[in-house]
Amino acid sequence: MSLDERIRANLEAVRARVARAAARAGRDPGAIRLVAVSKTFGPEYVRAAARAGVRDFGENRVQEALQKISATADVQVAWHLVGHLQSNKARRAAGAFAVIHSVDRRELLDRLDRAAAELGTRPQILVQVDLAGEATKFGARPEAAKVLVEAALGCRAVRLAGLMVLPPLVDDPEAVRPYFRRLRELRDEWVAAGVPPARLAELSMGMSHDFEVAIEEGATMIRVGTAIFGARAAPAAEP
Ligand SMILES: *Cc1c(COP(=O)(O)O)cnc(C)c1O
Repeated sequence: MSLDERIRANLEAVRARVARAAARAGRDPGAIRLVAVSKTFGPEYVRAAARAGVRDFGENRVQEALQKISATADVQVAWHLVGHLQSNKARRAAGAFAVIHSVDRRELLDRLDRAAAELGTRPQILVQVDLAGEATKFGARPEAAKVLVEAALGCRAVRLAGLMVLPPLVDDPEAVRPYFRRLRELRDEWVAAGVPPARLAELSMGMSHDFEVAIEEGATMIRVGTAIFGARAAPAAEP
């Protein structure tokens, strides 16, 4: 099978899984954006997926992403940063990504907003919430995330669009359902407390092995790598 055929077949299978999960939840599958996580895969994979209709691509390292973005500059796609963002890379991120999923602290928010204002870009941002309290994980604990959401409402260049969660990695997708459900409940609580619903419309949750559960719990963006591109040769290192 050619690369194009393989990616087309994988995408067909992913879209069928999305459709079945949406049907179970009584949701419109068109309201669920598929972000193809292309980390560790070269530009030819991005081109193949774009030919198969993918419009959103995710990366978790700024440097790798910038190289891929310039190598595929002729392809009309939107780039998402799904991995941890170091503050000293905020400016480059504000210039390159349509959506930044990993805003988890005030200093980063301020740097992104300042850089986007200077560069004349309007990236969407999501606040990453840490619901597990794992010392090794990124994300803001819920109380700090709420403060960050309120701060983001006052930003002039970046636009708050929702929340993201990356639950602990476990084999059983049902084991992470409580995290997905909790993210939706937090969103609902914060909207009830006065945050404009449009600013928390997006819930970025679910990966290759658990996106059905995330869709059942309200995901509007799913971040899918392995199920589209295949197994990664080596685990992508943290930035
Ligand atoms: C790599 C990655 C994904 C995709 O993971 P798969 O299991 O390959 O689908 C999703 N989200 C984040 C933050 C990632 O780093």
